[in-house]
Amino acid sequence: AKELGRNRFRYYTRALSEETDKRLKTESALREALQKDQFHMVFQPIIDLRSMEVSHAEALIRWNHPELGFVSPEYFIPIAEENGLINDIGLWVARQACHAYKGWLLEGLILNSVAINVSSVQFKKGDLGRQIREILEEEGLDARAIEIEITERYLMDQTEHTIKHLSALKDAGHLISVDDFGVGYSSMSYMKRLPLDIIKIDRSFITDLADDENDRQISQAIISLSHSLGYRVTAEGVENPAQLEFLEHCRCDFAQGYLFSRPVTETQFIDTVTEVNDR
Ligand code: C2E
Ligand code: CA
Ligand code: CA
Ligand code: CA
Repeated sequence: AKELGRNRFRYYTRALSEETDKRLKTESALREALQKDQFHMVFQPIIDLRSMEVSHAEALIRWNHPELGFVSPEYFIPIAEENGLINDIGLWVARQACHAYKGWLLEGLILNSVAINVSSVQFKKGDLGRQIREILEEEGLDARAIEIEITERYLMDQTEHTIKHLSALKDAGHLISVDDFGVGYSSMSYMKRLPLDIIKIDRSFITDLADDENDRQISQAIISLSHSLGYRVTAEGVENPAQLEFLEHCRCDFAQGYLFSRPVTETQFIDTVTEVNDR
């Protein structure tokens, strides 16, 4: 029966486009990636613009496959979301983030939090909050150590369900960040109903901040509206001093981007923080 299945698979792949073929390869490779230890995490510092020192960090997953090579999370995360693997991957990510936070703490580095990206699929099972709590307990950490990033797109989709889950996470003590803000169509009045802490302005608005008047206005509006609702704001993808200058002028709270540091490994992170803070 197994042989037959394989032949049938082969028969169909011939008819499939290269794109679909690549996707199928990625999907089956993904299934093994966790067991085979092919993932690792990197961490990018997020800078408090008042003190110009590192406040917290974002945890980002990396996948190095022996044959496929480096596969971008922008490519494989949507596939993992579709086939449900994101649940296991997400828990692994949370575990790595807690472990890193604890490791840094033991070395004397006290970060405000480590942010993990949580996919909307992970909310469907309903026990994400409990799972994260268990992971935190293993490391003896407070919920505050783990910040939750969810995309604006997700907030637009599911109202009651979303509010319930976010409120539970917030009540448990997690900070909640809205990722990629501005690319969707959330209105601020809608955002106000959600238990949020930080709004992250999407990189697409930051890229041309130095010379695109529209992007300047949009960013400035997001910052001032967010502040009036009691949220703090992070600018993503800050790469040059001109962007930084404008963001400081708008009283943006945090900045993240290559200007400060690329994402680095857990071991490199302490040196990176020292470098950024000593500037
Ligand atoms: P994101 O959450 O918006 O993450 C920010 C992305 O911007 C990261 O790409 C980061 O490396 C990149 N970045 C940071 N600073 C700069 C900069 O100054 N310039 C430019 N050009 N890029 C910058 P990355 O790591 O490739 O991740 C891509 C996306 O994949 C993430 O976007 C997120 O949506 C997803 N992702 C990454 N890790 C995870 C994860 O552990 N779980 C889930 N569910 N999604 C993840
Ligand atoms: Ca993010
Ligand atoms: Ca983002
Ligand atoms: Ca400094």
